[in-house]
Amino acid sequence: MTDKKAVILLSGGLDSATVVAIAKAQGYACYTMSFDYGQRHRAELQAAERVAQQLNVVEHKVIGMNLNGIGGSALTDTSIPVPEELGEGIPVTYVPARNTLFLSLALGWAEVLGARDIFIGVNAIDYSGYPDCRPEFVEAFERMANLATKAGVEGRGFAIRAPLQNLSKAEIIQAGIRLGVDYAMTVSCYQVDDDGRACGKCDSCRLRAVGFEEAGVSDPTRYR
Ligand code: ZN
Repeated sequence: MTDKKAVILLSGGLDSATVVAIAKAQGYACYTMSFDYGQRHRAELQAAERVAQQLNVVEHKVIGMNLNGIGGSALTDTSIPVPEELGEGIPVTYVPARNTLFLSLALGWAEVLGARDIFIGVNAIDYSGYPDCRPEFVEAFERMANLATKAGVEGRGFAIRAPLQNLSKAEIIQAGIRLGVDYAMTVSCYQVDDDGRACGKCDSCRLRAVGFEEAGVSDPTRYR
């Protein structure tokens, strides 16, 4: 058992499941964190639970954080429909400040655990254009993390690791398959139904389907 600990943001989607497998392969004891933030469906939290179990993490934690109180996103305000056509600019599925909030909680847990590495599955190639997925954001958060914490000030600082940053969706899928990720367990759809079946139309479904096609791997997604 390694004492090299990592806190990993796990959404239940394809990317973050791959990140857990990568961290594990790098020899980390993995502590995964999901958020019950008022997203449209429960299926992704159930997917995160399954992935955490299959990849045998040390501990999986679900933190409640009601972002419906802020709204402003198709994912946290059901009166805003999830777009099914590609649009211009940053889509309405952007959740205001989501990765800043999630990474802040992961940072707090890492400080408590004595973990120095925090993993996030952001990707700047096949992504929806969210500003908090960009490398500049990850670097800025890392600087902030080392200024904001007791551990940082005392010289036990943090690294924010984004191993998928420069990979295409197809490369992410190929890496995950090599590491034994079962993508049938993951949920990417923004409007998945209660049985975990994807719509096949939203931005996230489209990126995922193209990724499997380009990877030359059969797509295990269940569509409704
Ligand atoms: Zn979908």
